[in-house]
Amino acid sequence: MKITDHIKNAKGKTLFSFEIIPPVKGHQIQQLYDNIDPLMDFKPPFIDVTTSREEYVYIDRDGLLDKKLTRMRPGTVGICASIKHKYNVDTVPHVLCGGFTREETEYLLVDCHYLGIDNIMALRGDAMKDEKYFQPTKGGHAYAVDLVKQVHELNCGNYLHDTVETDNCADFCIGVAGYPEKHLEAPSLKSDLKRLKEKVDAGADYVVTQMFFDNKKYFQFVEEAKKMGINIPIIPGIKPIAVKRHLQLLPQVFRIDLPQDLIDAVDDCASNKEVRQVGIEWAIQQSKELKAAGVPVLHYYSMGKSDNIKAIAEEIF
Ligand code: FAD
Repeated sequence: MKITDHIKNAKGKTLFSFEIIPPVKGHQIQQLYDNIDPLMDFKPPFIDVTTSREEYVYIDRDGLLDKKLTRMRPGTVGICASIKHKYNVDTVPHVLCGGFTREETEYLLVDCHYLGIDNIMALRGDAMKDEKYFQPTKGGHAYAVDLVKQVHELNCGNYLHDTVETDNCADFCIGVAGYPEKHLEAPSLKSDLKRLKEKVDAGADYVVTQMFFDNKKYFQFVEEAKKMGINIPIIPGIKPIAVKRHLQLLPQVFRIDLPQDLIDAVDDCASNKEVRQVGIEWAIQQSKELKAAGVPVLHYYSMGKSDNIKAIAEEIF
């Protein structure tokens, strides 16, 4: 079922969802199931599965380093299919511009359609690890809006190189990313919102936000988005702080601000076990306020470990 239909059917009740990352290749999918199992008690209507960018590895061949391109966490669509059928839950594969040609994207979408996947999250992807800026893949898209357009065209039966007469068109519900504190490359929040509006006009059905730790930022973002004519659901993304290093890492990677009270509380912790607890309590307060404000879904970034998400969900759902 489409995410937008799940939201409609909930009739104003806030839903619970979460995002997982595929295991490093060679590891077992059972580890993923062990983390999903405890969260199924909270009846998520959908689970997102991220896609990782490819990266360069250097292989020593008799003293000479051979540079090879590899993807450390492949398997997004396969994981979506296995979770969908094991738990009878909708899954949302993250589809990236970076690392994929348009043709590869088309084949991936065709696979999703055959597997009964009804939703996809259309993203540009970040720069590769050893690149300073995002470089579009040869034959791929430069911006998420172009990927949204491709999915929208496919929904109309217009494949890249042929129009297919069919009574079995895909009908993907399309999610896109939004940034309450603006995307790190955007010159201003307003110009980033204009880009978001372009994604909506191209066919996006809902937005999931980047993590934020101050709800005011989300509420202002939603208000500004509405003023700009963005009238689709904007789902807040919540990440509980888990280790002290997040204080440096999250602002550095995502260019987001952390509230001083949260920084002080984390600074006062003697161990990462205490930090994890502070992260849980902060996310509970955030979630309570967002739920009271009537957000459609609370979407949690689980990063593969579910104990903290379970502790939060127990207080909220
Ligand atoms: P875009 O919407 O293309 O925007 C990127 C930048 O370009 C913005 O600054 C925007 O303002 C600007 N821009 C957009 N259109 C134009 C234009 N036509 N001309 C000039 N500038 C333009 N990354 C992963 O690698 N894997 C994942 O699974 C993943 N999941 C994510 C899930 C969520 C909910 C979020 C919020 C992010 C996720 N990301 C993921 C990170 C995402 O790929 C990065 O934030 C990326 O840098 C931008 O992606 P986007 O889809 O927002 O890009």
